[in-house]
Amino acid sequence: MTKQLYVGKVPVGGGAPVSIQSMCNTKTDDVTATVAQIHKLEDAGCEIVRIAIPDEAAAKAVDRIREQISIPLIADIHFRYQYALLCAERGIDAIRINPGNIGAEEYVKAVADSCRKRKIPIRIGVNGGSLEKELRAKYGGVTAEALVESAMGHVRLLNKFDFDDICISAKCSDVPLTMAAYRLLHEQTDYPLHLGVTEAGTPTMGLIKSAMGIGGLLCMGIGDTIRVTLTADPVEEIDAAQRILRASGLRKSGVNLIACPTCGRTRIDLIPIAQEVERRLANCDKNLTVAVMGCAVNGPGEASAADIGVAGGDGVGVLFSKGKILYKVPQERIVDALMTEIEQM
Ligand code: SF4
Repeated sequence: MTKQLYVGKVPVGGGAPVSIQSMCNTKTDDVTATVAQIHKLEDAGCEIVRIAIPDEAAAKAVDRIREQISIPLIADIHFRYQYALLCAERGIDAIRINPGNIGAEEYVKAVADSCRKRKIPIRIGVNGGSLEKELRAKYGGVTAEALVESAMGHVRLLNKFDFDDICISAKCSDVPLTMAAYRLLHEQTDYPLHLGVTEAGTPTMGLIKSAMGIGGLLCMGIGDTIRVTLTADPVEEIDAAQRILRASGLRKSGVNLIACPTCGRTRIDLIPIAQEVERRLANCDKNLTVAVMGCAVNGPGEASAADIGVAGGDGVGVLFSKGKILYKVPQERIVDALMTEIEQM
């Protein structure tokens, strides 16, 4: 089991539930816009949020942002250690840095001292795109071993300054490489791991890459907190993260929808029915498995674990619950009938 740290009030690692993160894409010092976006993310289920700190104005906005939100705030810092110090003074809950790119060891020490004093954890965020030149040369490019050596080098640097409140990420845009790096980290360290496939792209491919990379690792028992990276409204990242956690069996709240792909046996217009059921249940937080099946051949049998479901017949649907038949309805009433049953559950 990994060590546990706290990002604000949210435990990360040590058996705590895997938490969902996202990152604002507003201009950080536009406090109104940043706070509005964080509220939207919070409403969608985001548990920890990160903001970019590209300049002093962003660092100086931290306290004004933080006092208007209720989820922990992480500062994303590159190159300028002074920004990390400013954010720490202004009440940031955690800092993401790459100790290797903030310069001299005395700067790293200054950040470590300030964060230790205030119990602010640091995420070492190694990224395939910014891996040190020496490691690229040593390993002949970006490899899992190179990413892990970079991360562990940064861990040692923080440890040298008596800093142990550490989380690690080693993200790449390549899914197998990302997975290999995290598996190595999992073998070599017990610091909590922040999972992500970086620059995963637009939702079309980004969702698949993230589901494979993050979901695959979670299914192996690796990962303590996650961020799905999408070229989209960050709220979509939260939705995707929740689905990945549910599909990995790590979140029970919300509906698990089972739906058959349809085939030559299907005698009802199943696809719009399944889509409408999914749409209407999007905000349902009941822990239910709902099945929408095209026929009775495999319907109730295949989905016998479903709490409620429907199997299509010739223009009709047969409602069933845990493998037992309830009653039959015409196809145009299937969705309403399912919703009525679900409301009563
Ligand atoms: Fe075909 Fe029935 Fe299976 Fe759906 S449940 S794919 S309709 S056999």
